[in-house]
Amino acid sequence: MKRVVIIGAGWGGLVTGYLLSKRGYDVTILEQSSHVGGCLQAFNRGGIRFDTGFHIVGGLVETNPMYYFFKELDLLKLPWIQLRNQGVFLNNTSYVLPCGHEEFFRYFSDMFPHEKNNLRRYFQTFKAIVSCPIKDTMPYWEQGAWNFLSHTIADPQLRDILSSPSMIMEMNKDYLPLFAYAEIMNSFITSTCRLAEGSQPMLDHLVQGIENSGSCIYCNSKITQILEKNGVVAGVKMQDGTTIDADIVIAAINPILTVGLFASDTAVNKVYVRRISNLLCSMGCFTVNIKLKSGVIPMQNEPIYVHAKEADMWNMDTPEVQHLMVHYYPEQNAMDLLTPMMWHKVQKRNRQSMNVPDNGYDMFKHQTAEQCIALAESAIPDLRNAVLNYWTSTPLTWKNYINAYQGSAFGVTKDYKSPITTMFQPRTPLKGLYITGQSMILHGIMGTTVSAFQTAAMIEPDIPTWPRLDVTAPAFSFL
Ligand SMILES: Cc1cc2nc3c(=O)[nH]c(=O)nc-3n(C[C@H](O)[C@H](O)[C@H](O)COP(=O)(O)OP(=O)(O)OC[C@H]3O[C@@H](n4cnc5c(N)ncnc54)[C@H](O)[C@@H]3O)c2cc1C
Repeated sequence: MKRVVIIGAGWGGLVTGYLLSKRGYDVTILEQSSHVGGCLQAFNRGGIRFDTGFHIVGGLVETNPMYYFFKELDLLKLPWIQLRNQGVFLNNTSYVLPCGHEEFFRYFSDMFPHEKNNLRRYFQTFKAIVSCPIKDTMPYWEQGAWNFLSHTIADPQLRDILSSPSMIMEMNKDYLPLFAYAEIMNSFITSTCRLAEGSQPMLDHLVQGIENSGSCIYCNSKITQILEKNGVVAGVKMQDGTTIDADIVIAAINPILTVGLFASDTAVNKVYVRRISNLLCSMGCFTVNIKLKSGVIPMQNEPIYVHAKEADMWNMDTPEVQHLMVHYYPEQNAMDLLTPMMWHKVQKRNRQSMNVPDNGYDMFKHQTAEQCIALAESAIPDLRNAVLNYWTSTPLTWKNYINAYQGSAFGVTKDYKSPITTMFQPRTPLKGLYITGQSMILHGIMGTTVSAFQTAAMIEPDIPTWPRLDVTAPAFSFL
């Protein structure tokens, strides 16, 4: 039986571990923090259970591969709540993003009749991308999402509405590939779901499946080195000096952190290591978790994207808060406000000990939270009166608690000008070492799940993938 060690028990590590342990592999998952889940954490404040990196998931319909991946993982049995319309609040006007291609097309064609033909072209491109075998998608990786939108949609207001959800894809004119925009947007248009219980039931299910198959997950187990022998992976070394032998190691962490685990005399080509070490990472997030008074504001299941008046939709690095995502917890009378935040805003607060008081940092968090609440109130009247208490987190929180490189929320930034260097194959130059996780192809639960299936199928061909995702070389050779 092949011994597999997986570094990191985030969504990527757990899905890969689940798939391989179900097929008889002897899997050991090592997680540096005290909980599994990585970005997916639940925590209690003021009696409310808040979730960190999972609010909604797209694509759980039969026309989308996510449906089949979740079926294979036996996750469709969870009590998914189907969301009808995500909201957009822009320049003092509320819009919805209807679920379903037909509904979406009809809603915006009625609202912007002069854009009907352009909307048709918009959807035709989506259709071409999401039905294209992955091996043939390179042209869509090489095109910028902003270029596509600005050349397809003429009305600036409609263009801004259609850009709005790309906040969760790191809107950046210089980087975001059309492929990433279209896949993620399409998954949310076809279906958007949430779980009332947040990510916990998903994590519990995978952990139970892994343990029932005889495999193990160990928390508080930070890996400090990937061991190799004669150019082949040999195992891992933990912070306490313990070593674990393995035939296969899967790094389910940011690739920049992975290459940092190579020994100084690694057999891996230095150019590969330097190329990965120099990659950019995505923005982080500032989050305000709010406990609300009951009955002051109406609660709903659907999230809302709120933008400041005249905000530049494609600029995430502004001095003041300009973009927000509002997620409700209707079952608990609570909400989260998420706004993009770059690492440089908190970098200087990166102190050694979390126990050292830092009044400047506390003031910064307070002021940013107040800006978030004020912006949210432009779309949700009376919100300020409804706030009972709130708690905040920054990219520094992510770095300290889940080792997120520079507090990045979505891993390596995908760059349409350089797709080959910003996407990853599961195989690495070190024989027996594989990678998986959100940095590989796409982030989010969808992207991380696709990557996990791809990595697991490289190791065990028996693992089903979907026809578009032909993982066998040379089909994937462009990556
Ligand atoms: C604020 C926020 C909101 C989000 N909301 C959504 C959403 O609503 N829907 C959606 O689809 N996606 C969402 N996402 C994205 C989604 O959560 C991530 O794409 C996904 O969880 C990433 O999983 P991963 O396994 O690739 O990485 P991670 O979750 O980062 O997991 C990596 C794991 O490796 C561990 N690790 C790191 N270094 C070591 C080491 N040396 N040794 C041992 N362990 C190590 C870490 O502690 C961590 O547990 C959100 C993300 C954020 C930050």
